[in-house]
Amino acid sequence: MIIFGTRRTVAQLAMVVLTCGNCHRSAAHAVLKAVTKFTLFFIPLFPVRTRYAHQCTACGFLMWIEKAQAEQLATAPPAGAPPPPPFPQQPWQPAPGQHPNAWN
Ligand SMILES: [Zn+2]
Repeated sequence: MIIFGTRRTVAQLAMVVLTCGNCHRSAAHAVLKAVTKFTLFFIPLFPVRTRYAHQCTACGFLMWIEKAQAEQLATAPPAGAPPPPPFPQQPWQPAPGQHPNAWN
């Protein structure tokens, strides 16, 4: 007798602040990766389906998203991170009318 089936494991990839599509609050959302694995004698062997979702921590609303969207959310800087550095300053320019090689 062979016992086989599937088992789903859910991993949290990140925690991001999003506006919920259900309760419309700006709340923390868990970015989730759900992997369904084929099991033989209750031993997970290989994944048969991988899905991604984010879940609102305020109301529990779960929304399935694309893998690319999940990866983008997971790699985005966390809320409250310092802003990116200012635009780099322009290199030194000679004053108008002054020849760049005037000191040579
Ligand atoms: Zn919500």
